[in-house]
This record gives sequence, C-alpha cells and structure tokens, in this order.
Amino acid sequence: MLTSPELFASASPTQPALGSGWGASNVSSRIFIDCGALRHNAAVFRAMVGEGCRLGAVVKADAYGHGLAHVLPALHPAVDALYVIAPGDAVRIRAWESTYHRPPLPLLVLGVLDAQEAVELARVGSAAVVGDEGWRTWLGPLRAAGLRLSVHVHIDTGLGREGFLPEDVPDALAGIADASDVLNVVGVLTHFADTEDVTEQTYARRQLARFREGEASLRALVGDRPLERHTAASAPSMVLPESRLDVVRVGISIYGLWPSRETRISARLVKGELPELRPVLSWRVRSQHIKDLPAGSYVGYGCTHRCRDRTRVAVLPVGYHDGYPRALSNRAHVLVEGRRCPVLGRVMMNHLIVDVTGVPGQPEQVEATLLGRCGGEELSADDLAGWAGTINYEIVARLPAHLPRITVSES
Ligand SMILES: *Cc1c(COP(=O)(O)O)cnc(C)c1O
Repeated sequence: MLTSPELFASASPTQPALGSGWGASNVSSRIFIDCGALRHNAAVFRAMVGEGCRLGAVVKADAYGHGLAHVLPALHPAVDALYVIAPGDAVRIRAWESTYHRPPLPLLVLGVLDAQEAVELARVGSAAVVGDEGWRTWLGPLRAAGLRLSVHVHIDTGLGREGFLPEDVPDALAGIADASDVLNVVGVLTHFADTEDVTEQTYARRQLARFREGEASLRALVGDRPLERHTAASAPSMVLPESRLDVVRVGISIYGLWPSRETRISARLVKGELPELRPVLSWRVRSQHIKDLPAGSYVGYGCTHRCRDRTRVAVLPVGYHDGYPRALSNRAHVLVEGRRCPVLGRVMMNHLIVDVTGVPGQPEQVEATLLGRCGGEELSADDLAGWAGTINYEIVARLPAHLPRITVSES
C-alpha cells in the first residue's frame, strides 16, 4: 500500500533523503548509516589518543550490526587497523580493499582459528591471535603452504575468556620461537573485564599489572623484538589513559555509542569535558496499514493493550525477527513526525503496532523512526536498551543482515 511517495521524500531536514533509500520494496524497515558520524567519531578518538598511539576500529559482528560493507568506505581511511572475530571477515575486508583499490590495513582476527583458517589468514596477510594451545596445529599446514602468519599473543589478565594466564605463558608457548619460519610474533594483547560498569578502575589497573607480567614472560621466549602492545577497548581508551599503549581497539564508540553511563561520567572526569560521540545508525520503517480502532479494542497477541478511547493505530512491518526486541512490548515509543508514539501491545515476529492518534493530518501512511532522530526528538540505542533491560551493544549487534542498509552523510 504505497500511498504517497512524496511523503517520504519531503521528510524533515534532520532525516536523510529517503527518496533514494527506500527503493521499490515497501515492506521492510531500513537502516541508515551516517558515514559523516563515523568520520567524526574516528576524529574524536584520534585527537583523544594523540600522536603516540594508533587508532584501531573493531568491526566484529558485522560492524556491530551496522553492516561491514556499509561502514568500510568511511571507516577504512579513518583508522590504522581493523579488528574482527571471524576469520571470514578478514577475508571479506581484503576482498573489499582489492575491489576498491584501497591500501591493505593491518588486520587482526581476535577469534579462534583452525589450521585451515590460519593458512587462509596468512595468505591474505591478516594477523591472528594466539590465545590457546591450538597454535601448534597450525605449524604443519603453514609449512606445507609455505606461508608465514603474524600473530599477537593474548594474555588473560582477568576476563577468563581467551588467552594465557601470565604464569602459563612459558609452558603454553614453549617452542614458539623455533616456529619463527611460520609464526612471526608481532604483538601482545589483553582485554579488560570491568572498565564499563565502574567509575574507578582498580580491577583494570590490576589487569594492566598482570599484562606486564605476561608480556615479560613472552619477551623471555621470543627475544628482543618489537611487540605491538594493546589492551584498550572503547571505555578504557577514554577513561584509563595508561591502557592505550601502542594502539586502541575501539568498538562501540566508533559507532557513536557510549559503553555505559559510568563510562560517560568517568570520561568527563578524565578529560574535563565530554567527548561528543555521534550515533551512526538510524532505523526507520514505513507503515503497512493505518486504521481507527473503537474505544475498548484490544491490540496484539495476548490482548495486553486495550484502547481506552478511539485510537488510530499504525501497523509497522517490523518485529523481533528484524531485531526489534519483544521486551519492548507495551514499553517503547517510535517517532513519527517528531512525536513519540507508544508501542501498543506485544511486539510480534514481523509486526509492531503503534498509536498514531496524535499525529496531525491523519496521514494514510507514516514513516516511523524506531531508532534515531526525527524532528526535535531522538530515540537512542540506550533508550531502547533501557526499556528492553539490556545494553546498547545488544540492540545494534542483533540487527539482522536481512535489513537493507543505506549509507547517508548527515554529520
Ligand atoms: C569487542 C572487543 C573490543 C571492543 O570493545 P568495545 O567495548 O566495543 O569498544 C576490543 N577488544 C576485544 C578483544 C573485543 O572482543
């Protein structure tokens, strides 16, 4: 039911030009990626970490749900390194670079690998993390392929996830120096456990001390050579300057989102002012149907909402299959023409029903902003996360690949 395409073309100036974004299909929500905001956030981090430290961006989980292919054009030229979890993503990035004639950036696969993947990464010139004993199985296949893989050693300093405990380094990595024909140890890293949920960094400082122990043990094994040292994700990059070392691995905040409320408070204390991060992602959907329901009508599965008065509802073709959390049932708002419109009843697999009674002019179709700015209003990933009882990371990272993503430049 496409009633009025001009409606969307003449959206408010704070919204991207939708004429190009919506295309023929009217039955799907759209994610808009603001590459200007990405560039801005990268510049904020570059200024913050200064000249002595490189800026790396984490693009795991399809760039935190933003879409790897959609962030690379703006992000790739703005950073010094990229980090992924899945080896396939490193291969995709190399293919993208070659297609668009971009110089290859240093890439590091943070996740676990089998021997075949290790060979593939060596082939495309990506580095890998050695974080468990599996590295020994890589040696034969790398030798057979005549390839050498650059590796960073992960030290588990208190997260309990990947990596070697500092005291286990000598045994777990014994012999790695003799494998230097196929493994080139070029870096050492760790990952913090408790930088986001606190406003003091006692545990992180303990982790840094453990990191130095692990680094010393590693140096004893591999001899005198330059090792790139890195520990800081978004929050520690901002709130714990001594964690920045040679390169920072900025994930969530490159996309303009704060790791937590506590990080925001601490960042203001550390820097004296609040760094301005700009959210990169907006999410919009056109209504599939609008109708008036008489007073007393129920809305949605379970009849959890009952209309007190006559209510004009818009049915939106988006649901939990599309990453809109069911936990937002009867809690969230969407924005229509700069007004907050409550979600009525339960979020369904492919549908959402909102109250558009207050939208003037009784339009036959509306565009709803599920996440992002609309007029003078904004719904942030933090708002959705708060209503859904989760964190902004989960809201964006679970936006599925099937949603069309459109690159725009607003900021
Ligand atoms: C995800 C991740 C990061 C980035 O974390 P953010 O909090 O999103 O900045 C950095 N390092 C490692 C090892 C990670 O897994």
